Amino acid sequence: MRISRETMVKLLQKKEDPVKDPEVLRAMLNVPRHYFVGDDFRPRAYDDSPLPIGKNQTISQPYMVAKMTELLEPRKNSIVLEIGTGSGYQAAVLAELVDKVYTIERIPELAEEAKKRFDELGYKNINVRIGDGSVGWPEMSPFDGVIVTAGCPDIPETLLGQLIENGKLVIPVGSIGFQELIVVTKKKEGYHVNRKFGCVFVPLIGIRGWRQGGSSCGGSAK
Ligand code: SAM
Repeated sequence: MRISRETMVKLLQKKEDPVKDPEVLRAMLNVPRHYFVGDDFRPRAYDDSPLPIGKNQTISQPYMVAKMTELLEPRKNSIVLEIGTGSGYQAAVLAELVDKVYTIERIPELAEEAKKRFDELGYKNINVRIGDGSVGWPEMSPFDGVIVTAGCPDIPETLLGQLIENGKLVIPVGSIGFQELIVVTKKKEGYHVNRKFGCVFVPLIGIRGWRQGGSSCGGSAK
C-alpha cells in the first residue's frame, strides 16, 4: 500500500519517542521525498524506511531524518553542516528550517545528483562539497550544528572543533552494523553528551578506529 506524505508525518508523531517540533514536522511535510529516490522506489518513498539510492548507499529512514533534525534544535538563523549528502533529502529538510546548509559527500555522482535536485526544487541555501566530510568544512566554520548521517567509531574531535559555543553535534557512534545516536553540546566548561537510541547507518568512510559489528544498511532506528 502506498503511504502519503501526510500519513508519514502523522506516523512520526505516534512513535515511542515521537517527533514533536512543529517546524520539523512542517519541513517533513514540505519536502517531496519521492523526488530524492529513483523511479523504482517512488511507490515506497513515504514508507518509514531507508531506501537504496545507488552506489551502495541509502536515503535515511524519515523518522531518523526528523529526529536528528529535531535534536539539532535548528533556528532560522542557524548555519549547519551535514556530513553525508547522499540523496540530498536531509539537507533539503534542514534548508527548510535554517539560514544556510553546508553538506559534504564523498561520492561525486551522488553529490552531483543532489545538487541537481536542489536546483530543480529551488533550494538556494544549500552548498555542496565533494570530499571527505570527516575533516568537516573548516573555512565555513564555526557551525551552530553539525549532523553526521553515516556511522562513526568515535566522536570526531575535528567536528567538535568546528562548533560554536552551545552548538550541537548529532552523530551515530558505535561499530559497523550498530551505533547509538548521540547529541554532543559544546559548553564553555566542556562537552555535554546525551545518548539517545540505537540505530544503523552506513559507515563514514576514511575514518579510523572501527570495531566490527553486524552488516550495515543505512539510516534507521533500532
Ligand atoms: N543524508 C543522506 C540523505 O538524506 O539521503 C543519507 C546519507 S547515507 C545514510 C550516508 C552517506 O554518507 C553516503 O552517501 C556516503 O557516501 C556518505 N559518506 C560516507 N563517508 C563519507 C565521508 N567520509 N565524507 C562524506 N560523505 C561520506
